[in-house]
Amino acid sequence: MRRPLIAGNWKMHKTIADSLAFVGAFLATGDADGAYVDVVIAPPFTALYALALAVEGSAISLAAQTMHWAPQGAFTGEVSPVMLRDVGVSYVILGHSERRANYGEMDEDINLKVKAALSHGLTPIVAVGETAAEHFAGLTHERVMEQTRAAFDDIPVADIAQCVVAYEPIWAIGTGNADSPASANAVMGTIRACVEGLADARILYGGSVKPENIAALMAQPNIDGGLVGGASLQVESFAPLVRHARRVLA
Ligand code: PEP
Repeated sequence: MRRPLIAGNWKMHKTIADSLAFVGAFLATGDADGAYVDVVIAPPFTALYALALAVEGSAISLAAQTMHWAPQGAFTGEVSPVMLRDVGVSYVILGHSERRANYGEMDEDINLKVKAALSHGLTPIVAVGETAAEHFAGLTHERVMEQTRAAFDDIPVADIAQCVVAYEPIWAIGTGNADSPASANAVMGTIRACVEGLADARILYGGSVKPENIAALMAQPNIDGGLVGGASLQVESFAPLVRHARRVLA
């Protein structure tokens, strides 16, 4: 059984004080009890340690937003999987479209990172998705298959089943225009089928997920939850989003 998962990607938002205030208020809502939905927060690196202490004993897990594949070395500005484990992180977002577009991350890099995450006991959340141009050219399925196959190349099937994939159409990120539940479900079916092991993995939808659309998305058979940007920044939107994801299953 695939457990639902809601992951909040804070990107480059929130100081340590802001992050602690969010988690305090979020825990007080009672919506992050972990009964039906796994909840993951991906704050900036600078807030990870403080949040690791703050979420201890709760059902909230922490993710990093990226990492290097090497355990250590001369990689100025990078953070390694060993360091993420050290600070209390259990998930890592890999291949987010902003990393691919702005920092030149290639499919080969993402594959190295997925392997490194798995070998250090971190659960990768591998983001794939097509640009608007690819979407309107009818290349969506082809593009996500290419990215997914590359990310999981040469990884044992049993390990792949433990990973998380996030289908994030780039044209839907931060625009307020989410993909329709049926269309997202179809693309995610393609992702599930294109690599052995992904039938059992959790696949999230990302791109303008809100409290208002999460239930309809998660009613689709291939959608196990959401990777949430903007709506994860305020407790007023993230708590109801988690609550509505839970209602689908209760
Ligand atoms: C994202 O960047 O991963 C994302 C899904 O953002 P938003 O929810 O704001 O569209």
